[in-house]
Amino acid sequence: MVKVDLKTLISVTADTIAAHADELTVLDQAIGDGDHGLNMKRGFEAVRAEAEGFAAKPLPEALKAIGTKLVMTVGGASGPLFGTLFMALGKEISAEPDRANLAMAFGKAIEAVAARGKSQVGQKTMLDVLQPVHEALLQGKTAAEIADVVDRAADATVPMKALRGRASFLGDRSIGHMDAGGRSVALLVRAVVESIEGHA
Ligand code: ADP
Ligand code: MG
Repeated sequence: MVKVDLKTLISVTADTIAAHADELTVLDQAIGDGDHGLNMKRGFEAVRAEAEGFAAKPLPEALKAIGTKLVMTVGGASGPLFGTLFMALGKEISAEPDRANLAMAFGKAIEAVAARGKSQVGQKTMLDVLQPVHEALLQGKTAAEIADVVDRAADATVPMKALRGRASFLGDRSIGHMDAGGRSVALLVRAVVESIEGHA
């Protein structure tokens, strides 16, 4: 696996969230309270502000520290969940992960998010985009294929009925809109894999 530069990854993920913050807000306005774009932007800009410090740490420690920062800054329901994702990833990943370690760590991180959110795949949440990424990693998919997988997974949340989070309060009226958290995961994963592919 290519060695990734954490400073670059922090920069490309913060860039994509900033570029799509309005879109995330619109998605969350449709079936939530409209704060998701700002929540994510606040969190990823806070991570960007301390990128040097994170990048100086070994990868597991860096991911744990980034997760803690996200919990403190994103807010909403998604803050603790994204924070858990990064913290759990940091707990399981090696300092120089190969594909097998990354897939294993990602699987454990998703389990931690599901436990924290008392949620599972099929409930129209970020898990519906995270899980296909895990499968793609296990299947040895390329960066370009993974970028495609996440876009399709986010699209696939549109016809789902929300069973967790604020959108679930709408019942059937949540059908027909993309899940904002799922879209965020798709944006983050696409930015990461495109950056890795660009440096491969
Ligand atoms: P809030 O819902 O508190 O306003 P955000 O708008 O920042 O928080 O985040 C909403 C997103 O969080 C949803 O689109 C969904 O993907 C995710 N989410 C909410 N609750 C859960 C849960 N219990 N499990 C997994 N993901 C969840
Ligand atoms: Mg919201």
